[in-house]
Amino acid sequence: MATELDLPTVLFLQKTSYIAGAVTLGYLRLSFSGERGVGLLAASFLILAAGSTLAGYAELYPALYGVLSLINIAFGVLGYCLLSAAFVLVSKPKRKFHPWLVFVPMLGILFAGLVTQLHLNNTYRAVTFTSLGFLAFAATAVVVMRDARREPLPIRKLVAGTLAATSLLSLAMAIEFCFNTFPILGVVDGFSLMIISKFVLAVSIVIFISERQQTEIRQLANRDPLTGLYNRRAFGEIVPSSLQEGDAILFLDIDHFKQLNDHFGHAAGDQVLVMMAQAIQSTTPSSALLARQGGEEFVVFLPAEVGDAKLHAERIRKTVADLHFPAIASEIKVTISVGIARASRQRAGLSEVCRQADRALYLAKTGGRNRVCDADHNTLQQASFG
Ligand code: GH3
Ligand code: MG
Ligand code: MG
Repeated sequence: MATELDLPTVLFLQKTSYIAGAVTLGYLRLSFSGERGVGLLAASFLILAAGSTLAGYAELYPALYGVLSLINIAFGVLGYCLLSAAFVLVSKPKRKFHPWLVFVPMLGILFAGLVTQLHLNNTYRAVTFTSLGFLAFAATAVVVMRDARREPLPIRKLVAGTLAATSLLSLAMAIEFCFNTFPILGVVDGFSLMIISKFVLAVSIVIFISERQQTEIRQLANRDPLTGLYNRRAFGEIVPSSLQEGDAILFLDIDHFKQLNDHFGHAAGDQVLVMMAQAIQSTTPSSALLARQGGEEFVVFLPAEVGDAKLHAERIRKTVADLHFPAIASEIKVTISVGIARASRQRAGLSEVCRQADRALYLAKTGGRNRVCDADHNTLQQASFG
């Protein structure tokens, strides 16, 4: 890699880009994101800018070389630790985080510097700093990718890739500084690439938070907050408006739920809804789609390939009838009525099939509740009570 820049220009660019990054991220932290990781990255950039400024002064004022170079390496180490902490925290905001841990490597370096005077040697200082960068960035990349199992955001690949590349860059620079020969990267090229990697990291932390917020917004828009099931809106969006022949819609409605609320209280009613939703979910095939239609009503889309819809409906009805709620009140028994309708060549529209399922549900209610009614056969499936 060849560059026209000289070292003082690159160091100036490094400092100004750190300060610009710190100001921008600091503003984001204060204004809307509220993420601690963004604040840590801003702090990291400020500390790294201060460290490189002090390194410049150390060269200008030989009398202060010792103290300034020691602070320079301490700030460099602290800056890298803050940068890693920023991504570790953004990657999983609920992670247990002990802020004082960030200062431990810096205190270790201060101690080692005071004992060995390693900071007085430019090579030792550069090798220490770049080696720590290699370890810190590599470990952070691993953490970011491991957290993907819990929260698979696409931006993780860019963040982990940039951290891994920065780690390798640090390793290459550490080796070159160590042997004082620069066959792969000149110092100017290495510093230039470091500036670019920090820029990518600063942008990617913002994308990270934005992707997370979008996922949360989608979750809020599509899910029922009480049961965690899809809501009516999501059901209408996910299930095709034109069904295949044999696809079935089930309408489920809890029997006499008002009485349960009146007897045991609304909070108990809520708990029953949650437990019922879980039970129904575990009884429906994985290719089916269960949603809370509203109130104490649920809807299920059963694709044709899952087989006899009436069997599935009957299994769901029985699962609910067999539920016990010892944590709420042992005497609570809940039943549901179910209406089924299937799509045919003549009747494939989702809204029309839903209307038929609703009509069948009405028949199940008027037929005595705790039963399944099939719109196609217009007959009541006799419940096997108990
Ligand atoms: P039916 O057998 O005819 O369906 O009788 P029902 O009492 O279940 O039906 P109705 O429509 O008269 O009452 C529905 C009740 O469901 C009334 C309402 O308080 C209750 N409900 C609706 N949503 C919720 C909820 O989120 N939590 C609780 N606890 N109750 C709810
Ligand atoms: Mg109802
Ligand atoms: Mg009801």
